[in-house]
Amino acid sequence: MSYFSGYRCTRCGHEYEQDQVSYLCPACSKHYQPGMPLLGILECVFDYAQIAVAWEEFSIAFPDANPTQKIEELCELFSPVDKEYYTNLPVGNTPLICSQSLVGETLYLKFDGVNPSGSYKDRASSLVVAEAKRLDIKEIVTASTGNAAASLAALCAAAGLKAVIFAPAKAPAAKLVQIKIHKAELHLVDGTYDDAFAAAMEYSATHECLNRNTAYHPFTIEGKKTGGLELYAQLGQVPDYIFVPTGDGVILSGLAKAFYDLKETGITDRLPVLVAAQAASSDAITSYWETGVYQDAKKPHTVADSISVKTPSAAHLAVKALKDSHGMGIRVSDAEILSAQKMLASRTGIFCEPSSAATLAAYFQAREQGWIKDEAKVVLMLTGHGLKDIEAVKFDD
Ligand SMILES: *Cc1c(COP(=O)(O)O)cnc(C)c1O
Ligand SMILES: [Zn+2]
Repeated sequence: MSYFSGYRCTRCGHEYEQDQVSYLCPACSKHYQPGMPLLGILECVFDYAQIAVAWEEFSIAFPDANPTQKIEELCELFSPVDKEYYTNLPVGNTPLICSQSLVGETLYLKFDGVNPSGSYKDRASSLVVAEAKRLDIKEIVTASTGNAAASLAALCAAAGLKAVIFAPAKAPAAKLVQIKIHKAELHLVDGTYDDAFAAAMEYSATHECLNRNTAYHPFTIEGKKTGGLELYAQLGQVPDYIFVPTGDGVILSGLAKAFYDLKETGITDRLPVLVAAQAASSDAITSYWETGVYQDAKKPHTVADSISVKTPSAAHLAVKALKDSHGMGIRVSDAEILSAQKMLASRTGIFCEPSSAATLAAYFQAREQGWIKDEAKVVLMLTGHGLKDIEAVKFDD
C-alpha cells in the first residue's frame, strides 16, 4: 500500500488531493510564463506517522537487513505510486563505491551510470511511467537535453507506452540513438533545451498524454528522491556532504526531499549539506543562490550537455534546498570537468559523463577553500555513463 497522502504547493503551501491536480499548483502557476523557472511546483506529502510505524516493524522483523533490503523497503514506503504499477526494468539500487584512490582521502561515489538507460533520469522516468499505468494513459511526452529522453524512451518501451520526445538537434549522438532504438517519437528542436521544454509544454496542452518535463511533473522530483534514500541505507547514516551535478536543479531538489522525508518520519535527525556543481556558463542556480535574485544563465555552452540549462525549471526549489542545508553552488570550467573525468576513469575505473565529473571538480574547489570538514562523509553523485558522449573526451596524445 502507498502512504502518499496528497500534494502541497512549494510556493503557497496550499494542499491538494491526489487526483485533484496533475502538475503545478493551479493558483501559483497562473503567474508562470515560458522562459522563467516554474512557479508552484508540487511536493508529495506522506503519512509520516504511519511510515514511522511501518519502518519500525520492518526493523524489528529484519534486524540484519542488508542495504538492498533496506532500500527496497524505504523506496516502497516513500513511493507515491503502488509497486504493482512499476515496470520490471530494474532502476536504482546503484552502487556506492568507497574510494581511497581518487584523491587520497575517502570519497563515496554513487554511480548511476549503471541504470538501464545509463543515467539518474531513469529514477524519474520509472515513477512517471508507473503513474501513467495507474491512470491508464498511453503516451508520455518530455523535453530533454538527451538523457531524460533516452530514459523515458526505454521505460516506455518496457511498459508498452508511447514516448514523445523534444530534444535539441545538437544532443550527443549516442543519446539520439537510444531514443530511436527504443522507438520513441523524436522531434528534433532547432534550438536549445529551453526551446524543447516549451515545445513539450505546448504538445501536452493539446494532446492526451502525461508530461514528464522535469520539475513540472511532481513525480520527477519524487523519483529522483530515491537516490537519497539509497545513500542513507548504504552508508547507514546521513552523509555530511553531497555534490550534485546541477542543471534544472531537480536531482538536487529530489535529494533534499529524501532527507526531509526521512527526518520528518524520525528515521534520521539531520540533513546533509548539498552542493550544486554547475558548469560556469550554465550557472543560474549558483548566481541565484549568491545574489538572492533570479536571472537566466547568459549563454550556456558547455561540454557537460546534461547540465546545460539557461532557465532551470526548479530554480526556486533548488536554491531553497541549498540554503536549508547550508550548502553552496560552485562553478567549474570545462577544462576542470574534463580533467576530473579522466582522473575518475583512470583512478577508480568509473567512466562517467562530463556532467557527473563536475562534482569532482567542485569538490576540489571546496576542499581548496577549506570548506570540507576533516573526516566528513562526502558523496559525489556520478549521474551518467561516459559512453553516452564519447565526443566530449579529448586526448592530448
Ligand atoms: C539531467 C542530468 C543532470 C542534472 O539534473 P538536474 O535535475 O537537471 O539538475 C546531471 N547529470 C546527468 C547525467 C543528467 O542527465
Ligand atoms: Zn501555490
